Amino acid sequence: MVIGGGLAAAHCVHELRKGGYGKPITIVSDEDVIPYERPPLSKEFLQGKKSVVDFQPFPEEWYAAASVSLRLGVAATRIDTSNKMVGLSDSTSIGYDNLVIATGCRSRLGGRASNMTGWDLPGVHTLRSLADSQALKEQLVDGRQLVIIGAGWIGMEVAASARSAGVQVIVLTPDEVPLAVAMGTEFGSHVARLHIKNGVHCRFGTTVSGIALEPESGLKVMTSSGDVPADLVLLAIGAVPNNELATEAGLEVGTGVVVDAQLRSSDPSVLAIGDIAEAFNTTLGRSLRVEHWDNAIRQGKLAAATILGREESYDWLPYFFTDQFDLGMEYVGDRAADDHVVLRGEPGSGEFIIFWLRKGLITAAMNVNIWDVNDHLRSLIGKSISADRLADTSLDLRSL
Ligand SMILES: Cc1cc2nc3c(=O)[nH]c(=O)nc-3n(C[C@H](O)[C@H](O)[C@H](O)COP(=O)(O)OP(=O)(O)OC[C@H]3O[C@@H](n4cnc5c(N)ncnc54)[C@H](O)[C@@H]3O)c2cc1C
Repeated sequence: MVIGGGLAAAHCVHELRKGGYGKPITIVSDEDVIPYERPPLSKEFLQGKKSVVDFQPFPEEWYAAASVSLRLGVAATRIDTSNKMVGLSDSTSIGYDNLVIATGCRSRLGGRASNMTGWDLPGVHTLRSLADSQALKEQLVDGRQLVIIGAGWIGMEVAASARSAGVQVIVLTPDEVPLAVAMGTEFGSHVARLHIKNGVHCRFGTTVSGIALEPESGLKVMTSSGDVPADLVLLAIGAVPNNELATEAGLEVGTGVVVDAQLRSSDPSVLAIGDIAEAFNTTLGRSLRVEHWDNAIRQGKLAAATILGREESYDWLPYFFTDQFDLGMEYVGDRAADDHVVLRGEPGSGEFIIFWLRKGLITAAMNVNIWDVNDHLRSLIGKSISADRLADTSLDLRSL
């Protein structure tokens, strides 16, 4: 049985059936749609370029053909590990031999904005689900003013999508550049230039105290540098793992559900995968929780391998991508904020690679608008190559 009907869940059940698992499988999802991928929600779907059938990992017919029972629009409310039962919001319960928790994250409403008033006013959006994206898309009308609170991945991707619909966009962030925490100054500065060039108004060093709805003039966002009027607001200040079920069940929970390199929790018949899993990575030698598409797919498959009795491990490096305006990038590795940065190529040209190094070893790399090199960059992680050689574009990348 799988709790959560997202990307990780879909790939887990698919791999189970592919591997010959013959017992009944049920996915319980509190969304009323079959599993879909979330990256297009801030990009192609929001821009009207894709519909949901274009980003479902498996079509609806597959679940029926594979005898995977989908309990949609129903939440799991309780896990009873002693009796191996899961209680559901419709007052039924389901027993399990193996339980996989794949409950993902929800949008953060607190954190740095915990004292923010007005986050629940009409016209204030968050973006996590298909329904959220649909609701936001309907409001992205040419000439309207969208204020985005937060300059992380989702905030900046929505900024780019909204501009393509002719929406006026203002991004508010306490940081000095977008994506400052995730990616550091070098890439963040490049993203800032790109957005400003495309008409996004970025207000850096700005904190938000609240949002208000004025009867005559509409929404206004109160900030450290004055009030900002808005037709609609997107709260994009991060995500929070849906840990509660696991915590209440007495499973070990840290930043997510704590699992080993085979994704088994403190109860070996319960596994956790995707955004929710704080998993031990054998290559990095430590546990981490990763909120990215590639990880959800791979951990879904790895959980199936564990249930099928195959000896596989969580041994791959984090990978993710983004698309904003004409920028596409892929990142692989495990950078730390104080890693040494080496640029290969000129950011002004739009095409470049960033390497991060710690104690002379490459910890992470990112290719920006340069394609078919990410596998090679992955192979360089952990290697010792001098900064001069990495930066020397006269040397063929593949010769490094
Ligand atoms: C807008 C957006 C854009 C993104 N873009 C990118 C990108 O460009 N690149 C990238 O690498 N990653 C991106 N991501 C991240 C990526 O989508 C996630 O890492 C991935 O979806 C995680 O998959 P998951 O299955 O762990 O969780 P989810 O996909 O979040 O699925 C969890 C599911 O469980 C359900 N659920 C929760 N609690 C319960 C319960 N108690 N009972 C039943 N069901 C429950 C949830 O409603 C949800 O349907 C993006 C995410 C978002 C939201």
